[in-house]
Amino acid sequence: MSPQVESKSSSIVIVGAGVFGLSTAIHLAERGYTNVTILDKQSYQDSHYAYEKERHTTDYGSLSCSHCSTADINKIIRAAYGSQFEYQTLALDAIAKWKKWNEELKTGKTVPPGFSTSDALFVNNSTVTMTTGLEMDQFEKDTIRNMDRVGLRETQVNLHNPQDVARARAKGFGFAVDAFSTSNISSVLDTQSGFVYADRACHFALHKAQKLGVKAILGGSKSTFSHFLENADGKITGVKTADGVSHQADLTIMACGGWTPSLLTQLDNLCETTAGSVAMFQLPQDKALWDKFAPENFPTWSYDIRRGKYGGLYGFARDPNGVVKIGYRGTKFTNPQTQADGASRSVPVTRWTQEAIRQIPLMASRVIKGFVRDYLPELIDCEMTSRLCWYTDSYDNHFVIDFVPDHHGLMVATGGSGHGFKFLPNLGEHVVDRIEGKKNDYLQYWNWRSLEKGAKPYNSIMEGVGSDRSLHHQAMTSLDRFATQLSRL
Ligand SMILES: Cc1cc2nc3c(=O)[nH]c(=O)nc-3n(C[C@H](O)[C@H](O)[C@H](O)COP(=O)(O)OP(=O)(O)OC[C@H]3O[C@@H](n4cnc5c(N)ncnc54)[C@H](O)[C@@H]3O)c2cc1C
Repeated sequence: MSPQVESKSSSIVIVGAGVFGLSTAIHLAERGYTNVTILDKQSYQDSHYAYEKERHTTDYGSLSCSHCSTADINKIIRAAYGSQFEYQTLALDAIAKWKKWNEELKTGKTVPPGFSTSDALFVNNSTVTMTTGLEMDQFEKDTIRNMDRVGLRETQVNLHNPQDVARARAKGFGFAVDAFSTSNISSVLDTQSGFVYADRACHFALHKAQKLGVKAILGGSKSTFSHFLENADGKITGVKTADGVSHQADLTIMACGGWTPSLLTQLDNLCETTAGSVAMFQLPQDKALWDKFAPENFPTWSYDIRRGKYGGLYGFARDPNGVVKIGYRGTKFTNPQTQADGASRSVPVTRWTQEAIRQIPLMASRVIKGFVRDYLPELIDCEMTSRLCWYTDSYDNHFVIDFVPDHHGLMVATGGSGHGFKFLPNLGEHVVDRIEGKKNDYLQYWNWRSLEKGAKPYNSIMEGVGSDRSLHHQAMTSLDRFATQLSRL
């Protein structure tokens, strides 16, 4: 036990019920902590983490829907991590736990209202990683080597190797082998990966946390963090919410995703909020198209994912409403705003924030449409909607799970950097290890830290309004809803 939390009945307040907060809450409760409260300004008990209410059958009335990076229709679940063996191990553990959560649903052990025992959260429909050029990317070579180390070489399929392809077909992944025309590009199929229904998974996780005894206060001023409570010794003793109510806590954990860097300014130069761009193509009522893009017939995929601003694409099979989602992260956009302390920090701006935005940068839309034209022409005439989705990048792409220096009683769990969702079932174990002062293989990467002078960051952060990644300099798509006519490219 750390000196910050003396017993399992110590009070712990988590601010933020996204992936980091939910996972922390579940694992605290599973390890026997009995006084855990999770606060979130969004009404997840009503919105069920749905980004768009019109896509759901529930009538949400005037409620706005959710808008954090966690609230989404689907997210990629992969264990391929190139040379980063530690994340591969963590992701393989997460996949095993996703399967357990599927099992909890199937066997009726945990079935939130609105779910049935025939539902699944994780879908193992595999991932095709495509890269321009015939030479396999170093990342894929490293992944194959590291999968070999743990006896999983056969899960990686070089689509230019006939023996590998025959193995994939024999395992039932022929649909993924044939999904794209890849004769002129390097492509590797990972048969152990796929996607999760993200909003459903978070709804499930929130239900699980509450069932384990976690108290959730969600939606409106009663759950919106306003400021920290601090005693005369400088210890953080909880938070005050926007309704003026104090929530005393022995330990406060800030897990506010894209909002964390502006709420906890000590994160300057360690974390910054940046946006990925997402396009959603609505399939028309056409059985052939619905069949083609069904998860059992179409894989999760990525294209030139680490190749800069003209690449960085990934996509999914259709969801139950016939939506095919394609994401672009070739450029991570920022929204620098001057804050009360005079410093400029990027802050999330979405369809649901006060200053709403419904468009994405034109550049992102062009790269997405270029891919659609070349690889998925069936989507050209589909109605397309778009949105910005906010990451919290750290400068080295590792999470930040640690106590805040010089602030006894305060911890942070953030820095998902675009790859945190897959760890919803297991990330919290490591947060609790940190709280309890236990050593584990991961925490060394997630320490509070700063970039050494002269060192090159993995992610350039806090470049301010002068950066060409700033939304201030981006031409935006003109409408929220527009047909993807290629003539407009
Ligand atoms: C476009 C995009 C695509 C991604 N794709 C993948 C993927 O395919 N696979 C993968 O593994 N990961 C992916 N990620 C990363 C993953 O989504 C994130 O790492 C993860 O969801 C971050 O969770 P979080 O809890 O840190 O933040 P969030 O999900 O942002 O949650 C933070 C919560 O804090 C709350 N909050 C904020 N301010 C306050 C306040 N003042 N008071 C109370 N509550 C507050 C918010 O309402 C929110 O619920 C993607 C991210 C993006 C943006």
